[in-house]
Amino acid sequence: MSNANPDTTAAEAHRRRTFAVIAHPDAGKSTLTEALALHAHIISEAGATHGKAGRKATVSDWMEMEKDRGISIASSALQFEYAPEGHEGEPFMINLVDTPGHADFSEDTYRVLMAVDAAVMLIDAAKGLEPQTLQLFRVCKARGLPIITVINKWDRVGRTPLELVDEIVKEIELQPTPLFWPVGEAGDFRGLARINNDGEAEEYIHFTRTAGGSTIAPEDFYTPEEAIEREGDVWENATEEAELLAADGAVHDQELFLNCTTSPLIFASAMLNFGVHQILDTLCQLAPSPAGRDADPKALEAATSAMDDHRDTTDDFSGIVFKVQAGMDKNHRDTLAFMRVVSGEFDRGMQVTHSQSGRSFSTKYALTVFGRTRSTVETAFPGDIVGLVNAGALAPGDTIFEGRKIQYPPMPKFAPEHFRILRAKSLGKYKQFRKALEQLDSEGVVQILKNDLRGDANPVMAAVGPMQFEVMQARMEVEYNVETVADPIPYSVARRTTAETAPELAKQRGVEIFTRTDGELIALFSDKWRLSFIEKEHPDFVLESLVAE
Ligand code: GDP
Repeated sequence: MSNANPDTTAAEAHRRRTFAVIAHPDAGKSTLTEALALHAHIISEAGATHGKAGRKATVSDWMEMEKDRGISIASSALQFEYAPEGHEGEPFMINLVDTPGHADFSEDTYRVLMAVDAAVMLIDAAKGLEPQTLQLFRVCKARGLPIITVINKWDRVGRTPLELVDEIVKEIELQPTPLFWPVGEAGDFRGLARINNDGEAEEYIHFTRTAGGSTIAPEDFYTPEEAIEREGDVWENATEEAELLAADGAVHDQELFLNCTTSPLIFASAMLNFGVHQILDTLCQLAPSPAGRDADPKALEAATSAMDDHRDTTDDFSGIVFKVQAGMDKNHRDTLAFMRVVSGEFDRGMQVTHSQSGRSFSTKYALTVFGRTRSTVETAFPGDIVGLVNAGALAPGDTIFEGRKIQYPPMPKFAPEHFRILRAKSLGKYKQFRKALEQLDSEGVVQILKNDLRGDANPVMAAVGPMQFEVMQARMEVEYNVETVADPIPYSVARRTTAETAPELAKQRGVEIFTRTDGELIALFSDKWRLSFIEKEHPDFVLESLVAE
């Protein structure tokens, strides 16, 4: 058993803030992560942790990065202590969980969002809301995940702040509530006005640029009276805009923020390190600390022996796996299962049980992983992310626990929109092919669909983005020495169906039915017109959308 003390666990959980940054590629996620690390004094100069500025992620990038770091597309977590100005007592412990930037890996991002307590939505001031921001926002909203909105790149010429707020309200029905309003228009970022809950500017925070924005920007604080003297109209414009919004009801309300109706708004420049401090302070002050979780109702119903229906953070240890990743680096040829601690204290070496298989194992190799750095974890508390090395059959969504059994709800699967048939180039490699398929399927690299017609040698890969196919094939080749071919298949829409509907549905043109590894029956349709035609002709068919629940 762990040497857990509920008081210690409660205090540790209380000071934790576990969040992810969601953004469309190029909005500045890497730059912000670096700026946060700078503020946490993990690095002394920005530019040290990544060099991909201005480049789009590609498969080759991914492969290079994988080789380079051992892992990288793997969601990893940056942990650091942080104390807002004037904070008394223990500092906060921040867990920033990394998400892959490319849309093709949005399923991985989705899984991360199941494992965090809040999200920072990063928006490019010139571009406003972009497709991936919208998609990720919907996932947060569906999960009821509180969102802090950050409008980035205010140092560059862009839109007006009120236009951006309007767009957020109209497009996603989320009411931004200004906490730090920009002083100076986009491209002339002088500082921030701190806005109180009545919509009044309380303080002016003036920033000074540092060379290349590579160190923390010095801040000077002024009263509103001093601010008028310093900035004149520019200050008055800023405060009037904030008051205008407040008059419209856009003021912070903790309950509305927690249920994802409103979102605290901060303007920033990740590159110049302006506003980064304020993002951290807001996370500490407003984002929720880790909470307990309910068990999966379906698992409870099916349970044959005693099972907990809920764990509080101070109960026995339990955690959920949200990502499984094999290292591509020959030196780190291991599988890493990333787990978020839900309850209790995790101690390295403790014996835990894998809820789905009932198997118990020792957690001798537990790591924290961020970028290149791996270090051993001795203890972890609710909200923390731990990488378990070679922990066997763990899959995303699985529960591990100590004490009485608990099983949390599984990770919902994303709706695949791309399909390919996978086969080994050489039949002689069929054994390795099967083994690789099984492993990579359990890691959730792609979804695997099979039917009798095509047989086990020709499974269908279903993915959210086509880059997942390339990752699948590359990993088969590098890790299992199996060269594969991915053939196109003429389907573009998937629906879940039932054993009752399947026989009649299979007779329709442009449809093929498969079984997914989790046992669900999945029907593939040539296109959405075919699907809607069939739906009209056969209103009795059960055809459920696979959109993430
Ligand atoms: P990611 O794809 O979201 O991780 O975006 P990056 O952090 O790689 O940033 C994309 C580009 O925007 C890079 O060229 C960054 O230097 C630039 N960038 C990021 N933040 C800012 C900012 O606050 N101001 C300006 N002017 N450029 C920024």
